Amino acid sequence: MSKPYEVKDGYYGGFGGVFVPPPLVPVLEKIAEAFNRYKEDPEFIAEYDYYMKQYVGKPSPLYFAKNMTEDLGGAKIYLKREDLNHTGAHKINNTIGQAMLAKRMGAKRIIAETGAGQHGVATATVAALFGMECTIYMGEVDTHKQNLNVFRIELLGANVVPVKDGDRDLKAAVDTALMDLVANHDHTFYMLGSAVGPHPYPALVHHFQSIISREAREQILEQEGRLPDAVVACVGGGSNAIGMFSEFIGDPAIKLVGVEPAGLGLGTGEHAAPISTASPGVIHGFKCYLMQDAEGNPAHCYSIASGLDYPGVGPEHSYLRDTGLADYVAIDDFEALDAFRYLSRREGIVPAIESAHAIAHVMKMAPTMRPDQIIVVNLSGRGDKDVGTILESEQIALDRRKQLQNK
Ligand SMILES: *Cc1c(COP(=O)(O)O)cnc(C)c1O
Repeated sequence: MSKPYEVKDGYYGGFGGVFVPPPLVPVLEKIAEAFNRYKEDPEFIAEYDYYMKQYVGKPSPLYFAKNMTEDLGGAKIYLKREDLNHTGAHKINNTIGQAMLAKRMGAKRIIAETGAGQHGVATATVAALFGMECTIYMGEVDTHKQNLNVFRIELLGANVVPVKDGDRDLKAAVDTALMDLVANHDHTFYMLGSAVGPHPYPALVHHFQSIISREAREQILEQEGRLPDAVVACVGGGSNAIGMFSEFIGDPAIKLVGVEPAGLGLGTGEHAAPISTASPGVIHGFKCYLMQDAEGNPAHCYSIASGLDYPGVGPEHSYLRDTGLADYVAIDDFEALDAFRYLSRREGIVPAIESAHAIAHVMKMAPTMRPDQIIVVNLSGRGDKDVGTILESEQIALDRRKQLQNK
């Protein structure tokens, strides 16, 4: 299906664009040129397909969740198993594509920032695969919280730089990584992990993640002989969701639903659901729906799922929301935790706590639909990374909610 809209100069309606310091503009233009040159190149596509099949393990299965479907007594539920990819999530679809582009642009070095460490691990993995030098910037505070991921990144041969500026957090890490890029762009490529950032990154990430819906479309046609009635995915920056939506955008018969994290509740301020609550603003070089303070600075955000804990959202999702081409809902920590336990117990699949947000929404949605209808939900990652901390986070979330209620 052809898209019902065009991306013009990096703008999705009023969202997106390039809001960066002048020295970065030509760097981004070079990436856009390379992307346009290689995205249709048969040799590039063949190499990407090779790594997807032989390294990542694609196509990932589309699994009919029989137990869940029976329990809920409504629509048939299919899980797109991106959790079975090498490294346990969808992020690798994008990092492999960007690393291949970086190589063709002559880059010898990859840099990235990471908060919880997941994007750092996915980046370090492909740097090892393609034999490139790799530096991961991480707020010093985060390096202590995520010491296991720091070790994992170093094990993969990359170098972790703890950032001691500012609040020593993710924002400080982004700023430092951008300064590195300005100084070293002749041989360094900046790897972005979600469908965010200045043009052309959202388009690039959309392109590489669209493999999710290309596979799912073919698989559901094979198994059911028709397309789904609804497609659901969780939304942090929005890369797994845009990949899951891509092939279905603009088909009026298919409802697209993005699930944002409501944290402790949309009314508490302790959430990370910019589409559900906020107004347009600029963050990290692009315009989007943003949680912001009175001065327009990105506001505090929170979710039990570190992969969803971001105050902005991809420009394309901001646009899909405005045009009504997709719907966005929010699921709180407690609903996500229930879904995390439910899917583990009933299907024998431990989902990432991020993906559990999408599962939780499907649990509400399926019973309102007919048994002859079909939902496809993206399982963006596996929950092994969360098992150790889930008990603890559950207690922290309960305590914080109690505190907020007593205020
Ligand atoms: C990083 C991550 C997400 C959130 O990122 P998006 O860009 O919104 O997809 C969701 N699920 C998992 C498993 C992740 O690792």
